[in-house]
Amino acid sequence: MSKVWFVGAGPGDPDLITVKGRDLIAHADAILYAGSLVSKAATRWALAGCEVVDSKGMTLEEIVTWLIEKANNHETVIRLQTGDPGLYGALIEMVQPLDANHIEVGVVPGVSSAMASAATAVESLTLPEITQTVILTRVEGRTPVPPGESLAELARHHATLCLFLSITLLQKVENDLRTAGWKEDSPILVVYKASWPDEEKVIRGTLADIRDKCRQEKISSQAMIIASPALGARNWSSLKKSKLYDASFSHRFRRSITTESTS
Ligand code: SAH
Repeated sequence: MSKVWFVGAGPGDPDLITVKGRDLIAHADAILYAGSLVSKAATRWALAGCEVVDSKGMTLEEIVTWLIEKANNHETVIRLQTGDPGLYGALIEMVQPLDANHIEVGVVPGVSSAMASAATAVESLTLPEITQTVILTRVEGRTPVPPGESLAELARHHATLCLFLSITLLQKVENDLRTAGWKEDSPILVVYKASWPDEEKVIRGTLADIRDKCRQEKISSQAMIIASPALGARNWSSLKKSKLYDASFSHRFRRSITTESTS
């Protein structure tokens, strides 16, 4: 029985694919990788006889036709996607025609660029008493966002915002954050090509100057924007500690010291 696997390749560094994804690549008969964002190096575990094709110039219809044709002739077919396939990956548009053709489908999650960007910059997207929420979104450009999801509205929560597909719309991002009450000195992080060996760039700025800094560094694509009150916490002198490791806090795996001493 043949199966088409949508595999998250991770954000760029080929070592950031999951073990499951790598094992599937090592057994695949045909791999279609999204060459605009996935490094060819991600296919380095493929067998010599495996057909490896870049989908860069292909339309969605051509991609689907390719996957169906390969699935009709082979057992293991892989669509290798950037980051996690469930985020801005046109996953369902590809799955529906496969379902219609009664082709089995599987999805292997991947490390999203949002997580890789935070990791690169040694940032935590959540911080006790600062923010406990992460919003993964994009600013409205040519692709509309549904009502209630404008950045100006979402930013009112003052939670961590990870903005995909928005680097060319940085001016709009700034305006929306201002509308939502973010201060000029709010920290903003931009990571270009997070985890790509020798290409990654980290730009730290504020609402007031991040656009200038990105312009100077000529960043105009493949970048993650993170706006968060938790940014820079590594250098804070006072930090609320997580309850998880607090000696007075019991949980499933550890009884609190106070409970023990009073019982
Ligand atoms: N599924 C992907 C997102 C695809 S949309 C994921 O989970 O990461 C493409 C957008 O993702 C880009 O416009 C950019 O905002 C972001 N992106 C992808 N790879 C990136 C990387 N290595 N570094 C920074 N941003 C990246």
